[in-house]
Amino acid sequence: MLKSPRGNSQLQFTVEAESPESRARAATFQTLHGAVQTPIFMPVGTQATVKAQTVESLQDSGARLLLANTYHLLLRPGLEVFKKLGGIHRFMNWHGPVLTDSGGFQIFSLPHARAMDEAGARFKSYVDGKLYLLSPESSIAMQQAIGSDILMVLDQCIPATAAHDQAQAAMELTHRWAVRALDACGAAPAALFGIVQGGRHHDLRKASAEFLRQLPFDGLAIGGLAVGETHAERYDLTEWVTEHLPADLPRYLMGVGTPIDLLEAVHRGVDMFDCIIPTQLAQRGIAFTSHGKLQLRRTAYKFAPAPVDARCQCRCCREYSRAYLHHLIKSDEVLGWHLVGIHNLTFYQRLMREMREQIVGGGFAAYYRQKRAELMRADEENPNRPPRKTKPASPARLGDYQLHRSAQGFYSIRQISSGEIMHSVSAPSEEANRLYIDQSALGARLIEPDNNIRELVIWDVGLGAAANAMAAVRCFEACHRENEGTGLRPVRLISFEHNLDALTLAAKNSGCFPHLHHGAPSKILSHGRWQHASRLLQWELLKGDFRDFIEMAALPDLIFYDPFSYKTDAAMWTGEIFARIFSRCLAKPAELYTYSASTAARVAMLSAGFFVAQGVGTGPKTETTIAFNRGESAARHPLAPPLLDQRWLARWRRSAAKFPAALSNEERSRFAHLLESHRQFLNTP
Ligand SMILES: [Zn+2]
Repeated sequence: MLKSPRGNSQLQFTVEAESPESRARAATFQTLHGAVQTPIFMPVGTQATVKAQTVESLQDSGARLLLANTYHLLLRPGLEVFKKLGGIHRFMNWHGPVLTDSGGFQIFSLPHARAMDEAGARFKSYVDGKLYLLSPESSIAMQQAIGSDILMVLDQCIPATAAHDQAQAAMELTHRWAVRALDACGAAPAALFGIVQGGRHHDLRKASAEFLRQLPFDGLAIGGLAVGETHAERYDLTEWVTEHLPADLPRYLMGVGTPIDLLEAVHRGVDMFDCIIPTQLAQRGIAFTSHGKLQLRRTAYKFAPAPVDARCQCRCCREYSRAYLHHLIKSDEVLGWHLVGIHNLTFYQRLMREMREQIVGGGFAAYYRQKRAELMRADEENPNRPPRKTKPASPARLGDYQLHRSAQGFYSIRQISSGEIMHSVSAPSEEANRLYIDQSALGARLIEPDNNIRELVIWDVGLGAAANAMAAVRCFEACHRENEGTGLRPVRLISFEHNLDALTLAAKNSGCFPHLHHGAPSKILSHGRWQHASRLLQWELLKGDFRDFIEMAALPDLIFYDPFSYKTDAAMWTGEIFARIFSRCLAKPAELYTYSASTAARVAMLSAGFFVAQGVGTGPKTETTIAFNRGESAARHPLAPPLLDQRWLARWRRSAAKFPAALSNEERSRFAHLLESHRQFLNTP
């Protein structure tokens, strides 16, 4: 079935030692840029740079092999740059080996932003709107242009919840693509890895491993893990797959993980890892140490002269105090991210080196037991006290946010620069339920008998302190309990937020925010995703500017639109942004709920094509707004919200703020015509 023959493994993978009481092994392989010893951890250089690190600091940490993301590099700077400037090694001044992913994971993380078939996936660039085809062949060509030492095949990634037939179809497609990728690679000297898929189904995982090991790959990866399954499940599947992988090829567990995850996976026979955790947590001031995980943001470190870890020889620990790092992190200084990143990367590389030494020396099993206990520790020297009941624990502010106590005694989060308070008129969870959950009849939608196959997608625009998202989670949980989990529609909750300080602050003071007494928000903060034990509810965070995600996030059924107001964040209330949301949702009925009842916001929605109705009032507000992309949805809505009518239009004609700012006369008349001729006003009195 293969057209172009490949020789034996390009890597000359040699196992040097195996642990007698474990599946752990130490090996060496050769790349075009030198030898690599395993087990190995690859820092992630998404944009041809490991965030906040220099090539020198990476080398000092002990890093040997870097991972780069084909998808991001294809979109920017683009392949021409690599072709002209001679590949990634010269481009980023890294002279060790590089592994590139296929780009598949990023594309399939955005399931509705692309069209997919046997040929590959077509998607639109978030940088310049250009259309691209990612196929097994084009992915290989891209990775070759980047100049990667180890290439990955294009695979189809599926959610951890995928049913057997869906997982099987994706696995079979992945297999056909694997053959095509091998053909595309031909006899080129770089190494090529296949990827085992099969979701959480043991029979499929086994079949996938057995199929791929027949093909002339230089290594095999385990894909589709670390996407929402529990740790126990991941360990179990990892062990199951490694049992079915050949002993003479490297095994790579993609996207994993925390230090304890690495220890557990090495114990189960994995050789290679990559993960963004060490640098991502560094940005938030979290350091891995031999005595637990330190949160350097905590006030406990304000006056601490000691290094992060006295047993660590990294530059951060040799030269800087916890107090200085605490200060840098609190001030959002890049140097804090850089230094804690150095420490975390050094910690990871030391862990890998120790594991290797123990495997070679025969002591791995004992080391595993001792290290496992050590890595599970929290911050031992300064343990976190449980939150006090209703009085805020310090700090009561973080970045641009502070706690706000209302006259009625409930707490909210206030943005300091604008003075705006999230959910100012009633307790956050109360308002969230009234405006978003009750009005959208979320509970009824979850148990609609005919609908239980199709996933319900909710956009939570403006995560804030997670009041709306948690109201949705609790609504789902109540339905799940009442219906004992049967006949419930799967839910995908997507939160958009560019600044997590509000949620971080609320979570630190969770005694003041009962809606956060739940495991989900902390998972969103630490991992960006959480799923309900039933796997029927997936909650994920898209961190960044909402406007960058409109065309890429999964197509919504419901939109909870809760950004700051026009006064604070005008860009979120323009006709243009609602027009983009409207055209994104063309394919199916969508409903948008928002607290704003301002004329400017409603005009912006109407001009975009939405049918706009009055929503219920909240506190002193007599009404809010609901927008429908289909006129008939308003009529069918269980609350029958009244559409804005001729009287509203008459008031609009008299309004001083009739037009959005900065419109020319010509644009004004076009705009007025758009509104006056809107179908919603044709049939209303
Ligand atoms: Zn250190």
